[in-house]
Amino acid sequence: MRDRADLVIVGGGVVGLSLACQLARMGFCDVVVLEQGYLCFGASGRNGGGIRQQWTTEENILLMKESVRLFRRMAAETNYNIWFRQGGYLFLARDGKTASTLEANMKLQNRLGVPTRMVSPERARGIVPGLDTRGVEVCAYNPTDGVLFPFPALWGMAKVATQLGVEINTYTRVTDIQTRGKQIVKVVTDRGAIATSRVVNAAGAWSWQIARMLGVELPNKPYRHEILVCEPLKPFLDPMVSDLSDGTYFSQTMRGEICGGISDPEEKSSMETRSSFRFLHRMCRSMLRLLPRLADVKVMRQWAGYYDETPDGNPILGPVEQVDGFIQLNGFGGHGFMLAPAIGRQAAEWLLRKVDHPMFEKYDLGRFARGEVEREIFVIG
Ligand SMILES: Cc1cc2nc3c(=O)[nH]c(=O)nc-3n(C[C@H](O)[C@H](O)[C@H](O)COP(=O)(O)OP(=O)(O)OC[C@H]3O[C@@H](n4cnc5c(N)ncnc54)[C@H](O)[C@@H]3O)c2cc1C
Repeated sequence: MRDRADLVIVGGGVVGLSLACQLARMGFCDVVVLEQGYLCFGASGRNGGGIRQQWTTEENILLMKESVRLFRRMAAETNYNIWFRQGGYLFLARDGKTASTLEANMKLQNRLGVPTRMVSPERARGIVPGLDTRGVEVCAYNPTDGVLFPFPALWGMAKVATQLGVEINTYTRVTDIQTRGKQIVKVVTDRGAIATSRVVNAAGAWSWQIARMLGVELPNKPYRHEILVCEPLKPFLDPMVSDLSDGTYFSQTMRGEICGGISDPEEKSSMETRSSFRFLHRMCRSMLRLLPRLADVKVMRQWAGYYDETPDGNPILGPVEQVDGFIQLNGFGGHGFMLAPAIGRQAAEWLLRKVDHPMFEKYDLGRFARGEVEREIFVIG
C-alpha cells in the first residue's frame, strides 16, 4: 500500500469509485481508495439498480439526466456489461394529493427534457400486462428510466481507475484520521498509514463514524432497507413499478428475476442487516396486490443493506468548516447508485478544476445549522 497520496477516498462503494474514476480520467491519479470489505460490501452491492429521472427538484432531474447519459456509455467504456435496460419507471398514485404531485413533477421534468407523461390506469395495464390498477387514480411514466446490475458497474469503474493509476485497497479499514491544527496529515488503517492532506468521506452509512474521527458530527443515520429477488421468469415486465401509497417498487432484471423492496415506516435507525419475516410478508402482499400473476412465483433470496439518511433526504457534499481538506460525499439514502456517475464527475471537476457546481454550497453540512433545508419529497428506490 502507498504511504502517501494527494487524496484519500474512504469507501469503495459506487460514490467513492465514481469519483476515483472521474479524477483519474481528468489526469489526477495520485489517489488511494480504502475499502474495509470487498467492493460491493456496502449499499452499492445490495441495491435494486433503479435509475430514474423522475424527481421533484431541478438539481436532481439534471443530475439524473447526466447520470443516465454516463450509464449508457459505461459498458462500452469499461468493457463490463452493466445490463442497463431502459424499460421506464411507472409510478402509481392512489390519492389526489399524490396525483397532483406527480403532475407537477411531470411538468418540471418535461421542461428539463425528461419525457414523463401521465397515464390512465387503463394505459398502465397496457404497459404492464396483468397490473391490477384497482384503486389507482393515475400513473406517471417515463420510458427512459431503467434498471441495471450494480456489481459490474462497480467493477468497471474500479478497473478504469486502477488502469489509470489509482490504488484501490480492499479489506483495509480506516481506524483514525490525524490532524495538525486544522490540517489533515495522515489516514491510519489496519494495514498501515497514508500521509495526505485531503480525505473524501464516501463511506456511505459509516460516514458519521469517519467524520467523528475528526470531531465532525454528521446528522446522517443508517436505516436498514430490505429487498428480495424471485426466480427468473420469461421477460414480461418493462418498467420498474412503484406504488407511492406504500413505497413498493419492483422490476425485472435482464436475467428475468423480479427484484424489489418496500418502505417500512416502522424501521428504526440501526446498523442491522438481518432479514425479517415482516419484510417478506409485507413485500409479497404488496406485489400480489399489484401483480396477482406472481402468486406461484418463488422468492429465491432476501437481503438487506443500509440507507444513509440525512434529515432532508438530500446528500451532504463538499468541505466542512472544522477541518481543511475534509470533503463529504455521503447521505445518499435510497438513491445514491443512480446519482453516483453525475456526482462523481461534478465532484472531480469541482476538486480539480474549481468548477463552481452550486450543489456543493446548497448541500453542504452547514445548511442544517443555517436552517436552509428543503426536503426532497420523492425518496424511493
Ligand atoms: C436494499 C437497497 C436498495 C436500494 N435501491 C436503490 C436503487 O434502486 N437505486 C439507487 O440509486 N440506489 C438504491 N439504493 C441506495 C444505494 O445503494 C446507495 O445510495 C449507494 O449505493 C451509496 O453508495 P456509497 O458509495 O455512498 O455507499 P456504500 O456502497 O455503502 O459504500 C461505502 C463503503 O465505505 C466502506 N467503509 C465504511 N467504513 C469504512 C472504514 N472505516 N474504512 C474503510 N472503508 C469503510 C464500506 O465498507 C462501504 O463499502 C438502495 C439501497 C439499498 C440498501
